[in-house]
Amino acid sequence: RYNTVEQAPPIEVFEINKACLADPAPKKANLSIGVYRTEGGAPWLLPCVKKTEVAMSQDDGLNHEYLPVLGFEPFCKAAVSLLLGDVSTSPPVAEGRAFGVQSLSGTGALRVAAEFLARILKYTTFYVSNPTWENHRLVFFNAGFKQCNEYRYWNEQKRGIDFEGLIEDLKAAPANSVIILHACAHNPTGCDPTREQWKAIADVVQDKKLFPLFDSAYQGFATGNPENDAWAVRYFANERNIELICCQSFAKNFGLYNERVGNITFVVSDPSIIPQTKSQLTLVVRGMYSNPPNHGAKVVCSVLNDAALRENWMDCIKTMSQRILDMRVGLRERLERLNTPGDWSHITTQIGMFSYTGLNRAQVEYLISQHHIYLLKSGRINMCGLNPSNLDYVAAAFNDAVRN
Ligand code: PMP
Repeated sequence: RYNTVEQAPPIEVFEINKACLADPAPKKANLSIGVYRTEGGAPWLLPCVKKTEVAMSQDDGLNHEYLPVLGFEPFCKAAVSLLLGDVSTSPPVAEGRAFGVQSLSGTGALRVAAEFLARILKYTTFYVSNPTWENHRLVFFNAGFKQCNEYRYWNEQKRGIDFEGLIEDLKAAPANSVIILHACAHNPTGCDPTREQWKAIADVVQDKKLFPLFDSAYQGFATGNPENDAWAVRYFANERNIELICCQSFAKNFGLYNERVGNITFVVSDPSIIPQTKSQLTLVVRGMYSNPPNHGAKVVCSVLNDAALRENWMDCIKTMSQRILDMRVGLRERLERLNTPGDWSHITTQIGMFSYTGLNRAQVEYLISQHHIYLLKSGRINMCGLNPSNLDYVAAAFNDAVRN
């Protein structure tokens, strides 16, 4: 009965975004929700996406028939190769030990993967970095996991990774725990392990028989180079032969947020188990939403499989990642010029869409109420909300908040 329903807590990022949109102040800045914005502060429909959509609208061969339960196979193949490499560079791809399942963007990939891990493989415990993307817990508990543990990640003093803590916590994890790892551009901290550190993480994962689940929401978006951004996943799968799952989102790197385009890449040691595995995944998807949507997956597949469109996409991710880098430099420079108390070097050493500014809760509240600058209470900002027109304003406001 509806009258027994209790109010659920709000989702912070959507609340703050809404508050910003409703704020009538002429000078305001939205540094909350993780979406790309151009220099002019507008959403960006990538030219390669638009071109593909125009061509699709003219294609009489297209229709709205159902896709297979596990998705559009050419898209899944393209997504797996984007992540791992092709037959010439990736042993799992060459040996038929990797396959993809289309998903409802990154969140849907995580949900299907988590249900498969919980219900079919009987995993019960998952680990997240402290802090992590705030939706990991909800998705994994809803999918049937019983226990969430944290591994140390952010060191407040260093404003960087607490690597000793991370390794210590992974070493103490019970065997068969699922470890959620951010493939690149860690959300919310913007701090990734170095390659040497990834090697040490792989050692522990192997020694302790942990199951790595990579969350890859920013491939190409972080450094402008998709291969570079997939380095950790490729190292685990291609070089170390570790069985894993990687949940890929095409929301940010293709600007296809609302089309819900995603893929789950499975890497297995023994390809003979793939038919059974797929049969179980088919039932997981069938019982959840039956089959995935078509449009965005066709767009991504067409772009990745056409040389000219792919080149345009590579240019687009360079443009987006470079704009973020420019904003990092711009913000740091201004804060240093204003002699804002504290060390601001982390603004340019962190990568990806977000920066963990180190601003505290009171400073965040002050920024929202006094300067109409909207950010998460953790101090996380979306760098894409910055542009040449608001950098001075935002830096001056940060300076004021820190001194106040
Ligand atoms: N994982 C992480 C770490 C993210 O930041 C996001 C996007 N905010 C996602 C997954 C999934 O997003 P989507 O479902 O829109 O692809």
